[in-house]
Amino acid sequence: MSGNPSDTGADGGTGIDADTPGSEADSSGSVDAGTATSTGTGPDPHAGTGSDAGDAGGPTDADPLLAVSDLEAGYETGQVLFGVDLAVGDGELVSLLGRNGAGKTTTLRAIMGAEEPRVLDGSVTFAGESLLGRPPHEIARRGIGFVPEERRCFPRLSVVENVRLAINHARDPADLETVLSLFPELDDMRGKAARNMSGGEQQMLTMARALAANPRLLLLDEPFEGLAPYIVRRIEDIIAEINDDRGITVLFVEQNVAAAMAIADRHYVIDEGRIVAEVTTRRLREDEALRQRYLGV
Ligand code: ATP
Repeated sequence: MSGNPSDTGADGGTGIDADTPGSEADSSGSVDAGTATSTGTGPDPHAGTGSDAGDAGGPTDADPLLAVSDLEAGYETGQVLFGVDLAVGDGELVSLLGRNGAGKTTTLRAIMGAEEPRVLDGSVTFAGESLLGRPPHEIARRGIGFVPEERRCFPRLSVVENVRLAINHARDPADLETVLSLFPELDDMRGKAARNMSGGEQQMLTMARALAANPRLLLLDEPFEGLAPYIVRRIEDIIAEINDDRGITVLFVEQNVAAAMAIADRHYVIDEGRIVAEVTTRRLREDEALRQRYLGV
């Protein structure tokens, strides 16, 4: 992808409630709903086959903010997603876990309307409206912020300039001070060029740029990747704060299972393009076989 996706995607706020949603997450009690509705290979036996979505208390029994159903998508080289189902309720903090190449980034890119992958079948709805076929900037405008794995920001521009640019592109932006108040580290280096910042600081700056558009839902692609443990903990805290205090719904994809368990309410596990489990944090922590089999930890 050329250019700057965070920037083009910064102008959110049209079409849906621009104000922050309520932060009550009714997810904490959700149990592993065994929603492995994947076609092809069956769901994992550890994947909580016993419960149904109605008892799960998760977003599937109400209107979820984000609903991905039976999503099939792929590249010229072949299909990668095979009937992916996931739902994120308003106010939830949810992870999508999987190994290298499992299909995590592809899922996020399909949600964001990226040119690639090509969506072959299924549906993606946000706040009750279909997103499929819409370009990324329109999806962003509807209230979805995206923080890509590559942590894109303008390398020569300062912290403030980077965030201001995102604010300038947003339909209903947050104000600079509100955004920076979440990131004291950035606040202390307002004039510093992004290229001179550490990986963790750049991660924060990319998140700040996404938040500048006042999103209702934030999608994060491997936010902990390549970061030292103490920065991982810092990013964990920031994501939790974004969700708890700002009331922003969060879906992040990760390989770092420990970090995901530290902050998320609920987790989907993806393997070879299929959702093989939907579990609570407690279940994921207890189910070593599930973790070993699909996540290698
Ligand atoms: P990682 O943790 O390594 O980022 P992931 O779970 O995000 O992995 P994806 O990036 O979604 O996995 O990749 C899923 C599959 O799709 C892989 O087999 C990958 O090689 C393939 N793939 C990803 N991007 C492309 C592309 N642009 N063209 C062709 N195949 C691709």
